[in-house]
Amino acid sequence: MIERQYDVVIVGSGAGGGTVAEELGGLARDGKKVLVLEKGPRFADSEFDGRELSMAPSLYAEEGGFLTAEGTMTLAFGSAYGGSTVVYTGTSMQPPERVIRGWGVPGLDFSDLESRARKYAEENGVHLLPPDLLNENNRLFVEGCEKAGYKAEQFPINVRGCKGSSLCNLGCPNAAKQGTHRVQLPAAERAGVEVVTRAEALRIEERAILVRVQEKKPGSKGLPSEWAPGEYRIKAGAIVLAGSAIGTPALLLRSNLPGLSKRVGEGFTCHPAHILAAEHARPITNDVGHPKSFFLDRSVEEGFLLETCMYFPFTTAKNLAGFGAPHSKLMHAFPRLQMILVLACDKAVPGNRVAVDRTGKPVVHYRFTPEVVASLIRATRASARIFFAAGAQRVHAPSADPPLLERDEAPAIDERIHGRHFKEGKISVSAAHLMGGCGMGSGPSDSVTDSYGRVHGIPWLRVADASLFPDSLEINPYLTIMALAGRAAGKLLEDKAWQ
Ligand SMILES: Cc1cc2nc3c(=O)[nH]c(=O)nc-3n(C[C@H](O)[C@H](O)[C@H](O)COP(=O)(O)OP(=O)(O)OC[C@H]3O[C@@H](n4cnc5c(N)ncnc54)[C@H](O)[C@@H]3O)c2cc1C
Repeated sequence: MIERQYDVVIVGSGAGGGTVAEELGGLARDGKKVLVLEKGPRFADSEFDGRELSMAPSLYAEEGGFLTAEGTMTLAFGSAYGGSTVVYTGTSMQPPERVIRGWGVPGLDFSDLESRARKYAEENGVHLLPPDLLNENNRLFVEGCEKAGYKAEQFPINVRGCKGSSLCNLGCPNAAKQGTHRVQLPAAERAGVEVVTRAEALRIEERAILVRVQEKKPGSKGLPSEWAPGEYRIKAGAIVLAGSAIGTPALLLRSNLPGLSKRVGEGFTCHPAHILAAEHARPITNDVGHPKSFFLDRSVEEGFLLETCMYFPFTTAKNLAGFGAPHSKLMHAFPRLQMILVLACDKAVPGNRVAVDRTGKPVVHYRFTPEVVASLIRATRASARIFFAAGAQRVHAPSADPPLLERDEAPAIDERIHGRHFKEGKISVSAAHLMGGCGMGSGPSDSVTDSYGRVHGIPWLRVADASLFPDSLEINPYLTIMALAGRAAGKLLEDKAWQ
């Protein structure tokens, strides 16, 4: 076992970890040793080839097919230098005041969070796309919403020099999307922060981390690790966990630290989602342009969000219900498909949690509550109305039986799309907004950390990622995660307790 010593070690390099690394750049400049450990590899720009079959297995944990313990939902999250920000779509939403205040976390000052989120939005070049860069899928969504009586809103996005390849979720091949791999991590490295990839934190001990550095498999994508493969024990003055809403609770559960709150792993939420598709008579230019430029927020009224989207052929095929000829027919219509992603605003409930199996691998337990099913049904009905209003000939709705609704069935949407057809495990549900598991709160009986991500009772240990959310955010989360991580880093710099 090789021994190393650092002042601060950050586990994970995504929205949370990348932000902390940048914020601690000043420490590194002052001669302190700051290290980021990232389980996934670092990629050369030339390796982003935009191909689904080579990029998805390289960038996503479990090749994008991480299944919940119940086998009813897949969870998508990245594992790479930059974490899920390498594969996210870059929609950049400010923290929602209603939700943050509703969390009721003592000391979580909304205006502080908001101003931090604004700082990162500026750093990431967040702006609204000009109308000439909007693609037809997005224009049809706006038109369909208007005709169906809804008001679509435009997403601010974080691209610089977007060439409209629509490949955000396979890692932008044009280096346009401003994830932590483009902005915060390079800034941290310039300041002297060390980033080691293919380095998995196995367990936390008192002010130390056990780490395994993996060799690059022959023929696989990604650069070799910066360190020699092997096992390391790294002593640290402070440890910041940013391994995501799955990785961080799993690491803490494997570590069994004395005094840790029993709440670790609880409160997991994820905005369960369906990918919906509708067939038009003519091609929809959804494979060019930014895929996600508009959304409809019905979180308060009906518990859901609708977002424009474009998914690749394999992902689309796996999300369409049915088999054989009808499935094949719809896939042949791929260039004519309009797409909407529907997301339910789920709530933290007992039982939905992150655990680990006997080998220490993360396991996510998630059951759909009746409220989540009702939200998905309402969202699917609203989408069907929007699709038809935009001129679609037929709509594919997973919670309809049979799943294809023809245009003349539009008056029967409420009857055809119904909760009785929501067959868990038979219809495709996926999620990419993973939240909770180390929730903030007032003390160890109700939470894992305080509002600055300080783990209750363990002054040298912090959390700075999506696992901090005590409940779901009800909107796309990355800017709020960065704001929380920025707060955690700021407090770490202020606190003397860990030094
Ligand atoms: C396809 C997709 C599209 C999305 N689109 C958007 C969007 O448009 N807007 C938005 O706001 N949000 C979006 N999100 C969500 C957003 O990307 C995440 O919420 C955010 O990146 C989570 O930040 P995080 O720091 O918690 O974790 P991540 O960004 O997932 O980073 C965690 C990192 O920690 C590493 N890690 C985990 N465990 C260990 C360990 N033990 N040792 C070492 N390293 C470890 C992982 O490999 C990973 O790289 C999207 C997500 C996906 C998957």
